[in-house]
Amino acid sequence: MSSIISSLPFDPTLTYINGEWVGSSDSQTSSIENPATGQVLATVSESTASDLDAAVQAAHEAFYSGAWVNTYSGAQRRDALLALATSIEDNRQALEHLESLNTGKPIRDVRVELDDTIDLFRHFAGYADKVEGRHIAAQTNAGLEGYTVKVPVGVVGFINAFNYPLCLLAWKVAPALAAGCTVVFKPGPQTPLTTLFFAHLLHSTGRFPAGVFNVVLGGVAVGQALVDHDLVDKIGFTGSVATGKHVIRSTASTARVRATSVELGGKSPGVVMPDADLQRTAELVISGCMSNTGMNCNALTRLWVHRSIYAEFLPLLKAAAEKIVLGVPQSEDTEMGPLIDRRQMDRVLEYIRIGIEEDKAQLLTGDGNHRVGQEGYWVRPTVFQNVDPQARIATEEIFGPVLSVLQPFDSLDDIIEIERKSEFGLAAGIFTRNHSDIARFTRRMRCGTIWVNNYNALYSYLPFGGFRNSGFGRELGYESFDGYLATKAIIDDITY
Ligand code: NAD
Repeated sequence: MSSIISSLPFDPTLTYINGEWVGSSDSQTSSIENPATGQVLATVSESTASDLDAAVQAAHEAFYSGAWVNTYSGAQRRDALLALATSIEDNRQALEHLESLNTGKPIRDVRVELDDTIDLFRHFAGYADKVEGRHIAAQTNAGLEGYTVKVPVGVVGFINAFNYPLCLLAWKVAPALAAGCTVVFKPGPQTPLTTLFFAHLLHSTGRFPAGVFNVVLGGVAVGQALVDHDLVDKIGFTGSVATGKHVIRSTASTARVRATSVELGGKSPGVVMPDADLQRTAELVISGCMSNTGMNCNALTRLWVHRSIYAEFLPLLKAAAEKIVLGVPQSEDTEMGPLIDRRQMDRVLEYIRIGIEEDKAQLLTGDGNHRVGQEGYWVRPTVFQNVDPQARIATEEIFGPVLSVLQPFDSLDDIIEIERKSEFGLAAGIFTRNHSDIARFTRRMRCGTIWVNNYNALYSYLPFGGFRNSGFGRELGYESFDGYLATKAIIDDITY
């Protein structure tokens, strides 16, 4: 065990259920790797079906006993979340270091993730004391008063992807707790360590009653048991399209249907118009694609470049990709880390092979389907050029540092038509100063986020989510908070 693990203020071999630290009921464990080296970083427990049941029962009891909603007014929930944000801030250096070791992310990127995580808890704390209904004047009978009341949906089961462990936790847990829900949270199986650290900080505030927040650990089996548990009122899922579709089917086949939101994959297009600032755009496109080693649901991975600037733009793109510094994630200079595990590295290398051998695409830069070194899971930024828009590398989510520059285009309208029909609808970007092109693109594209002359910027107050196979439901912003509330209509006959 590394010294960082032995000096953690919590025992990573336990998990947090009903306000207590407990081991797996049948002592199952799994190893967590440092993806930069491939070495074992820590051992954690694997939750069993009975651990999961205990967690859901605890969340159910905390919700229906009124421990969190009735005893705690909105203002108390607000203050609890603000105290938690302060505690995260006070411990941010240790959290950053652990997040960087467990994910392989460069420390400079983890700092941004921590800034966002703290901000998210503060932002959603502000909603906790602003749960509002509407008074609706009776339209047909003057003797009736109608109004709506918003109530928390109940127990929320969260299943997370591995790629932004703390930030995606905050996207989900902060609005759900602010709304008055109670939570059972399952992190991605590769990256559970900062979720446990978070549980320790939440517990230490002394402001969250037992059962309000619970953690279960593991992969498919415990995720499936959470989805299937009849005391769960809502499932919030982030992950791949295949698992997401399975989760939707499962939630519909339980005895009691429940609300579901699914945040799934993407293959997001970017468009470079003739008047774009080419140098700036090349850098924005490369960071839009390669940030987090391409393991980013909204990564810009399909690039359309106008024919009139294609020859001039590609060398700039190549230079921007080749400038990226790979290295020890905890070093200040490092700009890109490894992929999360061997499976993800093999998947990315296989797609690069498909690009070269089957799609017959030309490499602009990259090491082909070869990893970097023999330790850890490193792949160099890879850019293909002149790619057929229908090629597999141009249409399937790779989830790695691979950009497909498509064959040059002539008409923005043609591109919008192609992209409106694509499988995914998570995000898109356009680079131009022409306002008529910007308006055509933003009005007609069917996707959840559209970046104009920037890429990847996300804010706690702006909703995020998908169209088509990128999922449904929204995270961030008021829409996300509202997703954890149900509406009751009250009809009062005042003449009675
Ligand atoms: P994944 O689908 O393999 O796993 C996601 C989660 O589902 C994990 O916690 C996993 O243990 C769990 N799981 C697996 N099988 C399950 C089952 N049968 N029932 C319940 N849970 C189950 O995805 P991943 O590899 O962890 O993450 C990468 C994917 O996530 C990419 O497709 C990416 O685009 C997507 N993603 C989307 C967003 C978004 O906001 N749209 C954000 C991050 C990641």
